[in-house]
Amino acid sequence: MKIKVKKLVCPSCGADLRCECEKLSCAYCGYEEQVSLQPAMPRYVPVYQVEPKSEAKEYHCISCGASFSTDSVATLCPYCETALIGEFINALQPYSLIPFTMCAKEAKRRIKKHIRSLWFAPDDFIKDYRKHKEIQPYYYPLWLFNMDVSTEYKGRRGEYYYITKTRYINGKPAQVQERRTRWYPASGIVNQQFYNISVGGYKFASSMLRELQFDLTSCSSVDKKCLSGIETKEFDIGSKEATILAHTSLHSAIRRAIKQDIGGDTQQIISYTPHFYNEEMSYILVPIYHFSVKFKGKEYNYFVNGQSGDVVGERSYSWIKIFFFVLFVLSLMGGVLYILERLGYFS
Ligand SMILES: [Zn+2]
Ligand SMILES: [Zn+2]
Repeated sequence: MKIKVKKLVCPSCGADLRCECEKLSCAYCGYEEQVSLQPAMPRYVPVYQVEPKSEAKEYHCISCGASFSTDSVATLCPYCETALIGEFINALQPYSLIPFTMCAKEAKRRIKKHIRSLWFAPDDFIKDYRKHKEIQPYYYPLWLFNMDVSTEYKGRRGEYYYITKTRYINGKPAQVQERRTRWYPASGIVNQQFYNISVGGYKFASSMLRELQFDLTSCSSVDKKCLSGIETKEFDIGSKEATILAHTSLHSAIRRAIKQDIGGDTQQIISYTPHFYNEEMSYILVPIYHFSVKFKGKEYNYFVNGQSGDVVGERSYSWIKIFFFVLFVLSLMGGVLYILERLGYFS
C-alpha cells in the first residue's frame, strides 16, 4: 500500500524537524518551536471487532528518493534518516496519546542505572551495553478497556480452631497448640467494575507494556507533528484478541474478590465463571524509549516509560556470580549455625 509521506521542514535551514517533549527542533541549526497539544482524554466506545490491516506500508522518501516498506506510521528513512510522517491505515485510529515528558538523555541515564543495579548480570554484559546504538523513541499502541464483571462461584470457607497436644521435647513433656481447619461450603456472586485495563497493542512490545503504568490524565490529541522523529506503530493485535487478554488479566482480581466474599480464615475456590458485560474500549499511543543490547548472540530489550521514567527489561544472568553468591550464603549460614552451637542453642 503506497502511503503519502510528509516531513516537517525547518524554516531557517530546510532540514527536518523532530519532536522531543512537545518541542520541535532542528539538529542542524538549532531552530526550536513549541507544539501545543490539546488535552484529550481516551474516548471509549462499546467493544467491537477491529482487526489490523496486514499490508505493509510503502514509503517513498521525499529527501533522498528511496523506497522502503515499514509497519510504522512515522519513521526515519533507513537511507538518509529524514524523519517522515505517513498515515494510519487501520480502520480505528488513536484518539489520544500520552506525550513524552522525559528527554532521551535522561532515559539513557535511567537505563544505565537499571543495568548497573542488576546484581547477577555478567560484567561483560554491563560493559557491552555502552557500545550499542542510541536509544530510540517509540509511540506504541495501547488498548484500554472498561468493563463490569459478574462472577458466580463455588468454594469452601475455612475456619481455624486449635487443639492442645502433648509433645516430648528432649524427653520432657510439653503442651503445644496445633491449628486445624473446619471447612464449610460457600457459594455466591461477586460484582466488580474495572476501568482503564491496559493491553499492549503491538506484539513485539506487548509483554513489556503490561509492566508499565501510565498516567492517563495527561492524554492529548494526536497531532501528527509530535510524531516526527518518533517511530510510531499501529496496533497489530486486534480488538478481539486484546479483549481476551484483558479478561485474562482480571482473573487474579476476580479470585481476590471471591476470597473476600467467602470470608473466614482461609478459602478454597472450587469453580467460578466470570460474565463480562458493559465492555468499552479505547485505543491510545504511549511514549516508550527502546534500547537493545546484543550479548552472546541474544538480544536483550529495555523499555523506558517516556512519561514516568520506569524501566523494564530482560536480564542476562551470570551463573558464576550466582554460584559464588549461593556459596557465600551457605557459608554464612554455616557460620551462624556454628556460633549457635558453641553458645549451646542445640543442647
Ligand atoms: Zn534548521
Ligand atoms: Zn531518505
